[in-house]
Amino acid sequence: MTIPRASSEELESLDMFTHESMHIRGELNEARTECQAVQRNYRAAKLLGVPDATAKRNALEYYHVDYQMRGTIGGMQAAYYSDQCAPGKALDEHLSDSTWAP
Ligand SMILES: [Zn+2]
Repeated sequence: MTIPRASSEELESLDMFTHESMHIRGELNEARTECQAVQRNYRAAKLLGVPDATAKRNALEYYHVDYQMRGTIGGMQAAYYSDQCAPGKALDEHLSDSTWAP
């Protein structure tokens, strides 16, 4: 079975939902907020009914492609990026269902 691919706009939309939810929890720093979202995009997609394999693939794609581009674009986008947002780095929350959990 092929896993449906989400467009960049669709991935960004899901991330916006997760990102703003992290602000509602009280986080104000944009880089930390976005990293919390990156780690929860897999969980968020599943909550909304996206099948497991699709949710995982899309969340990982967002992290590996869209998120990493922020670090290279710079400017305002850089405020939403941290090189510490990675498995085992400072912003890793070690969630059992993290987007990047094995
Ligand atoms: Zn924000």
